[in-house]
Amino acid sequence: DQALLDIQELKTYFYTESGVVPSVDGVTFQLKRGETVGIVGESGSGKSVTSLSIMGLVGQPGKVTGGKIVFEGKDLRTASKREMRHIRGNDIAMIFQEPLTSLNPVFTVGYQVAEVIRLHQNASKEEAKVKAIELLKMVGIPRPEKVYSSYPHSLSGGMRQRVMIAMALSCNPKLLIADEPTTALDVTIQAQILHLMRELIRENDTSIILITHDLGVIAEMVDRVIVMYAGQVVEQTDVFTLFEEPKHPYTKGLLNSTPRIHDLKDELESIVGTVPNPRSMPKGCRFHPRCPYAMDKCVEEAPVLEDLKPGHQVRCWLHEDGEVTL
Ligand code: SF4
Ligand code: MG
Repeated sequence: DQALLDIQELKTYFYTESGVVPSVDGVTFQLKRGETVGIVGESGSGKSVTSLSIMGLVGQPGKVTGGKIVFEGKDLRTASKREMRHIRGNDIAMIFQEPLTSLNPVFTVGYQVAEVIRLHQNASKEEAKVKAIELLKMVGIPRPEKVYSSYPHSLSGGMRQRVMIAMALSCNPKLLIADEPTTALDVTIQAQILHLMRELIRENDTSIILITHDLGVIAEMVDRVIVMYAGQVVEQTDVFTLFEEPKHPYTKGLLNSTPRIHDLKDELESIVGTVPNPRSMPKGCRFHPRCPYAMDKCVEEAPVLEDLKPGHQVRCWLHEDGEVTL
């Protein structure tokens, strides 16, 4: 059956004064209806730029320079600004890490939620208010009538993130892109937000792209995982295989570096070295300067993303003549 989202060879480059940054450099993946896919990788691996590209929100000096972003059969790269606005309000919604920056400080929370509902559902002011309070209640906000007339700064981070989720869900999107949705929150609130997202997926059959540093969140939430490194997909597989049988040395490194806490942000230094300077990517495999398995060929020739078996792809020369256990 047809994918909800089909991304082919997506390229998003930033043309800076100090050189071209290939933030997303040939990314391909598909997403089915009701499926949750996680994207993991260090800062600067291209995760967030991938999602901004899908949303049509890449700003100067960035530009989507190649590939396709096919959503429900339509290539979003050929959509007009107006069509994209419509799609963003109705079909694809996004929640970010820091909800304070996405909420307008001068309007009440309720006004902002109700405005979204009014715009996208053609509701009257009164209807929108009723629906907004319902949504605030649905995302677990206590005393929603009171919160309705509060300003964003008077709410806690967890409450603001709930408000953002309520806004994202107000249009009943087919696709929700959540970029580090719980990173700024404490552990208890994180668990509540994730639980809430899971409920909503189940009830509405929403597809989700979940971008995170946190492998614990991945293990708990997603069906499939895309591992990105230096603008490229280096491994893609179902979540069980990823944890049991990682085939890319970078994935293996991620898993090894997070024995308990699963928080990549703090632990990633245990993979020796840092992400390459994107203005001068290493020749051959982009991971070779950090890879404990690097061979002569890796320094010379760039590996391509290959099917190891159905549903499991890896970009690494190690498996060229058959699967190797890491
Ligand atoms: Fe390591 Fe070579 Fe595989 Fe790159 S291609 S990940 S350098 S073994
Ligand atoms: Mg990011």
